Amino acid sequence: MLIQFLTLFPEMFTGPFSCSMIKRAQERGVVTLETIDFRAYAEDRHRTVDDTPYGGGPGMILKPEPIFKAVEAITAKASTKPYIILTTPQGEPFRQQIAVELSKMPHLIFICGHYEGFDERIRTLADRELSIGDYVLTGGELPAMVMADAVIRLLPGVLGDPQSAAQDSFSRGLLDYPQYTKPAEFRGMAVPAVLLSGDHGKIEAWRRQQALLRTARRRPELLAGIELSPSEREFLEEHQLLNPEKQDLPMKGGNEIESD
Ligand code: SAM
Repeated sequence: MLIQFLTLFPEMFTGPFSCSMIKRAQERGVVTLETIDFRAYAEDRHRTVDDTPYGGGPGMILKPEPIFKAVEAITAKASTKPYIILTTPQGEPFRQQIAVELSKMPHLIFICGHYEGFDERIRTLADRELSIGDYVLTGGELPAMVMADAVIRLLPGVLGDPQSAAQDSFSRGLLDYPQYTKPAEFRGMAVPAVLLSGDHGKIEAWRRQQALLRTARRRPELLAGIELSPSEREFLEEHQLLNPEKQDLPMKGGNEIESD
């Protein structure tokens, strides 16, 4: 997979892309990451990439010409049509399912906005507009890195165990179940006995129940997308967790694990 980032700040990408899984994915040839400074495509001798907004108002707006030229230069060289993503807080909220869809594309381009935003005509270049949440960041670099990270870890050969991504929160529509490692008891907090039992059937059942409980308590709206078995419905009803309006949401730290 090739992922290219159109940015005015290529240096921002150096740290995040030079360690951990993303570094390994590049070393293994699973993904090639390239930053392209679209200032290089500016038309005047001052390499101007932004200008004041028509109609007045604060801040500077990214001009269309450098970004159009950069995209056209990349597309002319590409063997397949790149899928172009515009980073914007006005876009569709990014989620795991979109990461899965993007992970199947051979070539992605992220356009990173900056300053007060970009000229509206730049939107016509994009196949998709994506946001990483309802807050406004300085630029599209961090959102592009967040989304690229979520995509890259799904590519075959990146994670040590391909099962890891399949069991992550959101992959099966639920939040992940609680996890423990050694020691079995720490400062009076014991690992649930079922996890030490060696009974894989019981462990699987416990994990599914815990994932359901955790999702129902923290993100009840996610349950709408899940097909629950009759016994799972009964289990959640017993805990008065099936109807979101019935609950208070304890989204704090601390142990919310049900007895095993
Ligand atoms: N005035 C713009 C608005 O209200 O939509 C925000 C501009 S923001 C300061 C500059 C750039 O950062 C945006 O053009 C976009 O590329 C990026 N950006 C900021 N917040 C973002 C978010 N939540 N998701 C994706 N991109 C974001």
